[in-house]
Amino acid sequence: MADSYDLIVIGAGPGGYVAAIRGAQLGMKVAIVEREHMAGICSNWGCIPTKALLRSAEIYGHMTHAKDYGLTAEKFGFDIDGIVKRSRAIAAQMNNGVQFLMKKNKVDIIWGEAQLTAPGEIKVGKSSKPVVQPQGPVPKNALGEGTYKAKNIIIATGARPRVLPGIEPDGDRIWTYFEAMKPASFPKSLVVMGSGAIGMEFASFYRSLGAEVTVIELLPQILPVEDAEIAALVRKRFEKRGIKILTDAKVAKVEKGKDGVTAHGELKDGSKQQIAGERLISAVGGQCNTENLGLEKLGVKIDRGATFIDSHGRTNVPGIWAIGDVAGPPMLAHKAEHEAVITVETIAGQKVHGLDKTKVPGCTYCEPQIASVGVTEAKAKEQGRAVKIGRFPFIGNGKAVALGDTDGLVKTIFDAKTGELIGAHMVGPEVTELIQGFVTAMGLETTEEDLFHLIYPHPTLSETMKESALDAYGRALNI
Ligand code: FAD
Repeated sequence: MADSYDLIVIGAGPGGYVAAIRGAQLGMKVAIVEREHMAGICSNWGCIPTKALLRSAEIYGHMTHAKDYGLTAEKFGFDIDGIVKRSRAIAAQMNNGVQFLMKKNKVDIIWGEAQLTAPGEIKVGKSSKPVVQPQGPVPKNALGEGTYKAKNIIIATGARPRVLPGIEPDGDRIWTYFEAMKPASFPKSLVVMGSGAIGMEFASFYRSLGAEVTVIELLPQILPVEDAEIAALVRKRFEKRGIKILTDAKVAKVEKGKDGVTAHGELKDGSKQQIAGERLISAVGGQCNTENLGLEKLGVKIDRGATFIDSHGRTNVPGIWAIGDVAGPPMLAHKAEHEAVITVETIAGQKVHGLDKTKVPGCTYCEPQIASVGVTEAKAKEQGRAVKIGRFPFIGNGKAVALGDTDGLVKTIFDAKTGELIGAHMVGPEVTELIQGFVTAMGLETTEEDLFHLIYPHPTLSETMKESALDAYGRALNI
C-alpha cells in the first residue's frame, strides 16, 4: 500500500518548505518531495548566495574608499575562489537549516522527482535532469522512490533560467546564474543580457571587483518593472561606476570565440553594435518548471507557461494546488512563501485573504540598492488616478551624510482623493531594509495623515520616508 498523507508538497524551495511547515502546524500529515536541493533555488542558487557575493563586493568597495573615512587600507585585494567559497558555504548552511526545519516539524522528505499519476497520487523516481553541482546533501532518513498518496498535492517546482533560441547557455562562454555564481576564474569583461534584478545584481558584483561590464536591455528602460524615474537614477549611477548600458537593444546573436564572446546588438534606431566580453550572462527571466509533472494528463491548466491558479492557490483540478515561481510572476521568494501560507490555510478550511499582487514588494541588491511596492507613477497615470507625489533625496538626510552614502531618492505616490499610499519607490542606502515600512503602511491602507503622525527615529535613513510623504503635500522639512 502506498504511503498516504494529508498533504504532499512537490519541491522544497521557499514556497514548498513553508507550505510543509504550515501544514504540519495545522495538524496535517505532510511529506515534501525534492529532487535536487533542500531549500530550492532561493537558498542554493538565488537570493542568499547572491547576497553573500554582493556583501564581499560591498566590503571591497568600502576598502577602496577607506581614505574617505580617515582609514588606511593599503595592500588589499580579492580572491574570487574565497568569495565563492563563502557564498557556497552560506548556501549549504541554509540547505541544512531547511532539513532541520523539516525534522522539527515531522515532515517526511521524499528524495527524487515527482510526477502526478492520478488525482491524489504521485510517483517518485530518479531526476530527469542533470543535477546542478555542487549538489546539496541528500537528507538523512529521506524516503525513496515509489508511489505516494495524499488528499491534497501542492506543486511548488519553481522555475529555471529562460533560454533565448540561438543564445543557449553552454556553461563556458555563455552563462546562466548558475555559472555566474561560481566562476572558475574572474572574467575581465562581461556582457549581461537583461537588466532585471538578477542581471543588475551580477553586473554590479562583477563591476565592483573590476570587470568591464556592459548591460544590454531589450526595453527602453533598465529594471523594466521599476518606476521610470528610479530606473533612470540607477542607470546614471551604474554609468558613473563605468558600467556601459544599452537599452532598446536586442541581442540578435552571440558569437563564441577562443577568448570570449561577441554579442551582436541591434538598436531600435536601426544601428548595430558589437559588444565583446570574456563571458555573457543570459539573464532574461524565468521559465516555470511545469514539464514532466503529468499536469497535462490530469488536465491542469497552464496559462502562458505558468500553472494557472486563483488568488488562493487552487488550480482548475480539485485537490491540486500550485504556489511560487511555477505559478508565474512575480518570481520572488517572499511571494512564494506568502502563497504557501494562504494555500495551506485554505486547504485547512480557514478563511484567508487571497494574494494581492499589487502589494508584493520587489528588491534589487545591487549598488545602489532599489526597492519598491505598489504602483509606479506611469501605472497610476495609466489607471487614470489623480496622484500626489513626494520626493526626498538622501542628501537631505543626516544619517546618509554620516554614512557617506547620499546618492538616492525616496518617491511616494498617494491617491489624491483619499490620501492612501499607493506606491513607494526607493533607490539608495539600505532601501531593501527600509521598504518594509511602506509595505506595512500599504497593507494597513495608510493615508498621508497617518504617516505624518508617526515618529521616525533620528538619525536614521528611515526619516527620508516620512520626508517623502511630507513632500507630497508640500510640507518636507529638511530640504
Ligand atoms: P524554487 O526555489 O525554484 O524551488 C523549487 C524546488 O522544486 C527546487 O528545489 C527543485 O529542485 C524542485 N523540483 C522541481 N521539480 C521537481 C519535481 N518534479 N520533483 C521534485 N522536486 C522538484 N527572490 C527574492 O525574493 N529575492 C531575491 O533577492 C532573489 N534573488 C534571486 C537571485 C537569483 C540569481 C535567482 C535565480 C533568483 C532569485 N530570486 C530572488 C527568486 C527566488 O529564488 C525564487 O522566486 C524562489 O526560489 C521561488 O521559490 P519556489 O519555492 O517557487 O521555487
